[in-house]
Amino acid sequence: MVNETFTSNISKSWMREALTARGDEQRKLHQRAADIRDKTVSRAVYFRGLIEFSNKCINDCLYCGIRKSNNAVKRYMMDKEEILDAVEFCERAGYGSVVLQSGEQKNKKFTGLISSIVGDIKKKFPKISITLCVGEQEKSVYQEFFDSGAERYLLRIETSNAEHYKKLHPKEMSFSERYRCLNDLKNIGFQVGTGVMVNAPSQTLDMLAEDILFFREIDADMIGMGPYIPHSKTPLYITIINKTESLNLTLNMIALTRIMMPDVNIAATTALQALHPKGRELGLLSGANVIMPLVTPIHYRNNYVLYDDKPCRNESSLQCANCVTERIYAIDLVPKHRVTGDSLHYINRITSHHVNEGKGVDNDS
Ligand code: SAH
Repeated sequence: MVNETFTSNISKSWMREALTARGDEQRKLHQRAADIRDKTVSRAVYFRGLIEFSNKCINDCLYCGIRKSNNAVKRYMMDKEEILDAVEFCERAGYGSVVLQSGEQKNKKFTGLISSIVGDIKKKFPKISITLCVGEQEKSVYQEFFDSGAERYLLRIETSNAEHYKKLHPKEMSFSERYRCLNDLKNIGFQVGTGVMVNAPSQTLDMLAEDILFFREIDADMIGMGPYIPHSKTPLYITIINKTESLNLTLNMIALTRIMMPDVNIAATTALQALHPKGRELGLLSGANVIMPLVTPIHYRNNYVLYDDKPCRNESSLQCANCVTERIYAIDLVPKHRVTGDSLHYINRITSHHVNEGKGVDNDS
């Protein structure tokens, strides 16, 4: 099964089989993905320092611990100096990129502040690449972020099935709007990252297979996928999850994505570690090549809890830096400091003559 080569007609049943692989078949699948990673994007693992700079959010996603209806959360917004200090830490630690992530706000004060912080980071730390993850915004706002110096943007589609999307989100939110955002980001020129939650409520194997086809269709440069983990203060909370199943499914999604999209950057997400003490290493061994150590100041971390049992909450940024580097050495991969680690897919995309050809992107920019 795992030796089948991909041509333009990928069979969904093959994908389903890969997603459910266990035992020997699963080991072969992960090995094949790791081999493709090694040959295509090398054994280097890139670092992105994750700064969760605000948990204020206007959205009420049914799965998310910082949804606006969760009154138990103490809301915060880091100020510019705190953010710049965290970026300085990233520079000292040798992280090639910082990810500024937050809950969603659309007001001008918020988006203007982000642009100004991006500009300041670019001036003070020109070698660090800036990744934003601040939700759905107007195209003009994305353009402003880009013009200020942000190079990358992460916006998970969460699920590529519009009906499923409705089951995970309040009625004010829509799949088509999120899709519009991804198109706009692409057309502006960002390196675009997307992804889904794996083993989310009402999700089927076919949906997961279609998610990967969706990543290819929109020509994503970066992929971040983590297991869905229930949060007790959300409507989708359930008390029991099968951690092993969730872990296996997420690892198989990572492996299959690597096999089908060899040159993209794929993150071994922190959520994997909520399911298994070596969750992130397992993600890397299944084909991922990016790791996102937390750089959020420790006193904010307990207020940025998207899912229960979020790991690394009580470790300082320095402890996280040392911990991830050791974990990478332990599995015989190469921690790669002081390089931005652009997605090879993005580099190939912008240097090829086929930029944005088809792929569901409006060439209106
Ligand atoms: N507001 C930003 C950041 C969202 S948080 C944005 O919209 O992009 C980043 C990611 O955390 C989300 O995209 C979602 O996939 C993930 N997440 C949220 N709640 C989760 C949960 N209960 N389990 C697993 N992942 C979750």
